[in-house]
Amino acid sequence: MVLSEKYQLIQKLARDICEAEIPSELQDEIDRTGNYPQELIRKFADYGFWGIKAPKEYGGQGGDTLAYVLTIEQIARVSMVTSIYVSGANSLGSGPLLLAGTPEQLEKYLRPIAEGKKYPCFALTEPGAGSDASAVSTSAVRDGDDWIINGRKCFITAAPISDFAMVFCKTDPSKGNKGITTFIVDMKTPGISCGKAEDKMGIIGCPTSDIVFEDVRVSDADRLGEVNQGFTNAMKTLDYGRLGVAAQSVGVGQACLEEAIKYAKERKQFGRPIAKFQAIQFMLADMATELEAARQLVYNGAIMKDANDRQANMYCSMAKYFASEAANRVAYKALQIFGGYGYIKDYRIERLYRDVRINTIFEGTSQVQQMVISGALLK
Ligand SMILES: Cc1cc2nc3c(=O)[nH]c(=O)nc-3n(C[C@H](O)[C@H](O)[C@H](O)COP(=O)(O)OP(=O)(O)OC[C@H]3O[C@@H](n4cnc5c(N)ncnc54)[C@H](O)[C@@H]3O)c2cc1C
Repeated sequence: MVLSEKYQLIQKLARDICEAEIPSELQDEIDRTGNYPQELIRKFADYGFWGIKAPKEYGGQGGDTLAYVLTIEQIARVSMVTSIYVSGANSLGSGPLLLAGTPEQLEKYLRPIAEGKKYPCFALTEPGAGSDASAVSTSAVRDGDDWIINGRKCFITAAPISDFAMVFCKTDPSKGNKGITTFIVDMKTPGISCGKAEDKMGIIGCPTSDIVFEDVRVSDADRLGEVNQGFTNAMKTLDYGRLGVAAQSVGVGQACLEEAIKYAKERKQFGRPIAKFQAIQFMLADMATELEAARQLVYNGAIMKDANDRQANMYCSMAKYFASEAANRVAYKALQIFGGYGYIKDYRIERLYRDVRINTIFEGTSQVQQMVISGALLK
């Protein structure tokens, strides 16, 4: 697909900003220490990256889904962990609000995200409810004009640094996925605590933790959408989230390909650059071809989503499934091309390989995407 000039400009802008703001030494430091510089998060907020899809009337950029995935792809090509902060604000954080927020809620919660003043997280997963999100047991019980929330969410991206959370609670335990309601919960509300940040394999620099709710009182004004309609909201939000993960996969995969090409031209064995060996050339050809196929699926998914296509969620799942698996294959081959040096932390490929591993897991595993795709085919 040939992108129009407008979209090429969006790509270039994101690419130029990331290359200038996140030098490789800084990426190494973030990966080593786990500390993502607050001033860099702020800069990305100031560039307007937290509100790519939020309407202009709420302080956002008013971009479409294609603009969003192009931006995420370019950010992830430079820094996967940075792309997590940006996608978190745009998709999982803003998504539930864009789908179900009242004008008052959009003003109170979406505007500060889009303007880069507040950061959200998306709290669906629980120790007993991963792929089967309908099994959430965190409860919300009505108490006059309020609700009382009790339970535990786990693996929540950016929970310890978030200002508020979209929390999916059981409001009717007898109704499975039709008994879930979404609440917007201020993370400073009494009764909320975060577990310690998980010691992760990759995307180091963006903390992931539990959130524990003990008799947390939330006003009914902060209920998002209708009672018992939260599951639909979560699944629709995940369509955007999955496209974001797919775009991240293409970005990291592209970085792996570029690193591998550079190294193959420099590294000499048997008296010549390893790029001269057909085995290496064919690995590069496979990597580039898989990435291009993934890229087209991602852009197509975005266009389907913007067109409100009836089967958009299937296309989003296809994009996430294929792109995340392909990016892992690409990272594997790229590291292979580096030989023993690829296994050493001095080389960027080692981090890329670790960072992209999560993409086949979060926002629905590859098996869950296969379930969504086959479910749509067999409907
Ligand atoms: C770094 C990180 C960040 C995350 N961020 C968030 C976040 O911000 N918000 C949030 O809510 N969650 C988040 N998650 C949770 C993530 O979405 C879940 O880990 C994921 O959905 C899988 O759930 P699980 O880990 O419980 O695995 P399980 O559901 O236990 O799955 C284990 C294995 O069984 C397979 N499996 C399960 N059911 C089936 C089936 N029916 N058929 C075939 N295979 C099946 C899975 O594919 C997988 O291979 C995050 C996780 C991580 C690791």
